Amino acid sequence: MKIAVTVKEVREQVNEWKRQGLSVGLVPTMGYLHEGHKSLITRAVSENDRVVASVFVNPMQFGPSEDLESYPRDLDRDAALCEEAGADLIFHPEPSEMYHSGFSSYVDMDTLTGGLCGKSRPIHFRGVCTVVAKLFNIVMPDRAYFGQKDAQQLAVIRHMADDLSYGIEIKGCPIIREEDGLAKSSRNTYLDKTERQAALVLNRALSEGRKLIDAGERDAARIKETVSSIISAEPLARIDYVEVVNWDLLEPVENIDSPVLVAVAVFIGKTRLIDNFIALED
Ligand code: AMP
Repeated sequence: MKIAVTVKEVREQVNEWKRQGLSVGLVPTMGYLHEGHKSLITRAVSENDRVVASVFVNPMQFGPSEDLESYPRDLDRDAALCEEAGADLIFHPEPSEMYHSGFSSYVDMDTLTGGLCGKSRPIHFRGVCTVVAKLFNIVMPDRAYFGQKDAQQLAVIRHMADDLSYGIEIKGCPIIREEDGLAKSSRNTYLDKTERQAALVLNRALSEGRKLIDAGERDAARIKETVSSIISAEPLARIDYVEVVNWDLLEPVENIDSPVLVAVAVFIGKTRLIDNFIALED
């Protein structure tokens, strides 16, 4: 497995693969990889001849008061995980390689990005769309893999790939959880022992919401109430949002009669965690 730090190196390698008629899968990440990321790489390896994993903490998607500086980084560990999962190339650029001085072109979206995480992170999805568009242009993959853990991101990237005619298949992959149900996240490392315990409330609340829908409840407000009240009962938790939206354009729904995303963002202490489930999907 190679580690490339420049766009040129990646292009040369991918062009060589394409000349050989090999298919290419891309797994974009911000590193500090765990089993969630690994599941995406493993899936990409099973569906493509060659797999590129990018490891790039993208400054453009962090707000001024967010955790860009403290975001955990460990390339050696990431490289070991990528190799074990069967990736062929890691793309690990410096910010200056992705954004030269004078950079001023962005990919933005009018729909899908205003609600959920976009409400409290107003510049986030512009940063995500721009970096993913660049990665698509650099790697030119046949398929790209995204986790349902970041469900809004998955929906946004699907929409962007379609709007901009990338011709890349966007594959959504299920949420990988710790044994006790907490969704795996690089940000879980911020939690101390008490917070780690309190963080279980996200999955516990969502599971109750899912039970209600499975039992036939179709009133989105009732689902929100149930999920919110369970989270609010946890003293260390502060709700950013609890939403029920349709699973295509991410618009709030009143009645649950087609696939919906039930999503939460919750501060546990200073750490903002997200989790979700999709209901009524075929
Ligand atoms: P990140 O490094 O947090 O930007 O995540 C990179 C990719 O891994 C995104 O597509 C995430 O949705 C996905 N991912 C992160 N955590 C998980 C998880 N627990 N299960 C499945 N996919 C995940």
